[in-house]
Amino acid sequence: DDVVLEAEGLTKHFPVRRGVRTLFTRERRAVHAVDDLRLTLRRGRVTALVGESGSGKSTVARLLAQLYPRTSGDIRLHGKTVTVHGGRKFRAYCRQVQMIFQDPFASLNPVHTVRYHLTRALKIHGRAGKTSAELEDNLNQLLLRVQLTPPERYLDKFPHELSGGQRQRVSIARALGADPEVLLADEPVSMLDVSIRLGVLNLLRDLKERLNLAILYITHDIASARYFADETMVMYAGRLVEGGDSETVTQHPAHPYTRLLIESAPDPDRLDRVGDLKDAPEDEAGGEPPSLIVPPSGCRFHPRCIHAMPKCSTELPPRFELSPRSELAVIAGKSDHWAACWLYEEGAAK
Ligand code: ATP
Ligand code: SF4
Ligand code: MG
Repeated sequence: DDVVLEAEGLTKHFPVRRGVRTLFTRERRAVHAVDDLRLTLRRGRVTALVGESGSGKSTVARLLAQLYPRTSGDIRLHGKTVTVHGGRKFRAYCRQVQMIFQDPFASLNPVHTVRYHLTRALKIHGRAGKTSAELEDNLNQLLLRVQLTPPERYLDKFPHELSGGQRQRVSIARALGADPEVLLADEPVSMLDVSIRLGVLNLLRDLKERLNLAILYITHDIASARYFADETMVMYAGRLVEGGDSETVTQHPAHPYTRLLIESAPDPDRLDRVGDLKDAPEDEAGGEPPSLIVPPSGCRFHPRCIHAMPKCSTELPPRFELSPRSELAVIAGKSDHWAACWLYEEGAAK
């Protein structure tokens, strides 16, 4: 099976110490950042997680990287539940699941060279080699993998001597130093110059193919998901609302929120503008993101949805399958298309 990492019922509530109290509840207030998330990452595939600012995307990445404890839910690596922090199994997990952050400047220590960063990663994961010649060889390999050539030109540079794109490549090389199976890339190109974003995305795609990695690609920008990801998941206010093949989700979006995202995105055919959609002005996207302390009842999108029906504000829509998996789709490695929206309930008017 190609499944590497799975999340089931993954939930993260951040307790809020101060803030509004209500008369009706004695519960501790919390930001419902991620609720009941189900996600599967497969070998050799990029899965995009798309949503506007504050929808919970980074929280998902941090939960999967075990940087945050989860409130509830399951994370499974190769079918085995990952439970405790610390210990040998936990270290093995941290090696296999690596994260790449948005800001390559912040993630590299400015007082250390590329050589230092990469050597440290190799040593932590016991992959530095026995002799200094082996280490040198491994360092060169890492830089070649991320297309920083010739390696000797980069090894002794400090982060400030590199461009943003080169720094992000070093961060990727460092993650590869662990020989991971999963890369969690949290907006890996959104802080880079528009002109070099494609180069870094193409590198990630190349790595996916050559190293058979499972990649979670987090982005605001649904146009780049279509270009770069095999599968796309759309997140709204802490919940996944639609998922499926990137082509299908972006060409035939079903959930009203996905449609809104696509309408406010730049032209997906203009690849030179990949990543241009930052935060669309709120009025363009039709209303504001909701409070996650008191999330809207029922479908969280209902206050902004032009199709909202009475039951939308009271009942949480489950996932409705839109194109049941055909045998051909399975052979082509395509994923199911689903939407969590009452419009797709059997018999509902579309
Ligand atoms: P962006 O696109 O701006 O990066 P995001 O989709 O990554 O947004 P998150 O950073 O996951 O969103 O945040 C989701 C919600 O959880 C937000 O309301 C945020 O304020 C809240 N949140 C995130 N981290 C914490 C934290 N450590 N403590 C309390 N609340 C948090
Ligand atoms: Fe709109 Fe209702 Fe669908 Fe939510 S469930 S997106 S409110 S139609
Ligand atoms: Mg984020």
